[in-house]
Amino acid sequence: MTVTDCRALEGLVPAEAGAGSPTVHHLYVHIPFCLRKCPYCAFYSVPFSGELVDRYVEMLVKEMEMVVPALAPKTVYFGGGTPSLLSEKHFEKLAAVFQRAGWTDIGEWTVEANPATLTLDKARFLRQLGVNRVSLGVQSLDETVLNRLGRVHTRADALRSFDILRAAGFTNINIDLMFAVPGQTLSAWEKVLEEALALGSEHLSAYELNYEQDTPFFEEFGAGKSESEEDLGCEMYELLLGATAARGFVQYEVSNFARDTLDGTGAPPAFACRHNISYWRGRWYYGLGPSAASYVMGVRYANFDDLGRYCRVLANGHRPIATAERLSPLARAGETAAFGLRMSVGWSFEEFRRVTGFELRDEWADEIADFVEGGYAEMTSSRFKLTPKGMLFADLVGEQFLRPEY
Ligand code: SF4
Repeated sequence: MTVTDCRALEGLVPAEAGAGSPTVHHLYVHIPFCLRKCPYCAFYSVPFSGELVDRYVEMLVKEMEMVVPALAPKTVYFGGGTPSLLSEKHFEKLAAVFQRAGWTDIGEWTVEANPATLTLDKARFLRQLGVNRVSLGVQSLDETVLNRLGRVHTRADALRSFDILRAAGFTNINIDLMFAVPGQTLSAWEKVLEEALALGSEHLSAYELNYEQDTPFFEEFGAGKSESEEDLGCEMYELLLGATAARGFVQYEVSNFARDTLDGTGAPPAFACRHNISYWRGRWYYGLGPSAASYVMGVRYANFDDLGRYCRVLANGHRPIATAERLSPLARAGETAAFGLRMSVGWSFEEFRRVTGFELRDEWADEIADFVEGGYAEMTSSRFKLTPKGMLFADLVGEQFLRPEY
């Protein structure tokens, strides 16, 4: 059931204050400004303007204060857009809400940064404020690929930004890379990968480029890839698995690698992103800012993906929620199963039962048997997880666990 009517929305979205209000431990904050739109990007963003950012931060503070009673964040993630475009003054205003709310237990606070926007002063300021993880949008260290992707930063910017973060005291840095970019060869990808890994970050995320609808890349290249492009994408992914393992990274999700080792208990590696794990494990989170999604008490809702409307609704004293949807318990469990299978440890049956109330191996017995037989997954007495072959097709496998609404 998806609801867009204002009054019905109020009935569906859990109240932040009062008896029965939820306690949510994960907060996402969307910063919807970019210096220039990348032609492959489908995230909501608008061109950067100082005046717009001032107004936005004022409204974001309002939205944050509305959810304070229900929030006790253990992880905070500032994504975008380009969060590193905010000035020290803007970050200070947002951090002041954290202080007023008494949020002292934030174990992980990540800010995404574009290499074209980082200075040593800003990096030091963020570190002092309490930010302890930075995700650097490097995407490539190959100028040809960076140009193809329409990125505003250069290879030199990326290398300099990494040094800046280390000089500012950051000991938990993620590097974001993209592969299967049109025109990119296997050897060019190998070179970028080797160079990026040699930087010595604690975490690496690497995503295959997909052509998203309503983007210039979709117009130019269409929805699907040719068979040879698909094959090349698979070869690049296999290269990624080999190179990260050789450098001591542990794959803990389809596209995510972190330092440390899995200890067999199902615990993620030390430098895994706790915030993203909360999504894959079906935990509740608030998402603030235009287009941001939240998932609280079984209700999934999304804010207006229009900055002007977002600000106007907040200025009138209301939550800027555009749609809300309450899934049936089984549909919710199916989604949770699909997300969790993206992680290398898959699902322990006990944890899945605790999170969703359903028995994974009973409710999805046929799917599990098929995937085990096909070599895409393996099952022990306590756990079900994908094999390396299954990880290659995690989206397709996950789809089989979804249950239609009824
Ligand atoms: S900088 Fe990031 S959010 Fe902005 S357009 Fe490029 S990919 Fe999208």
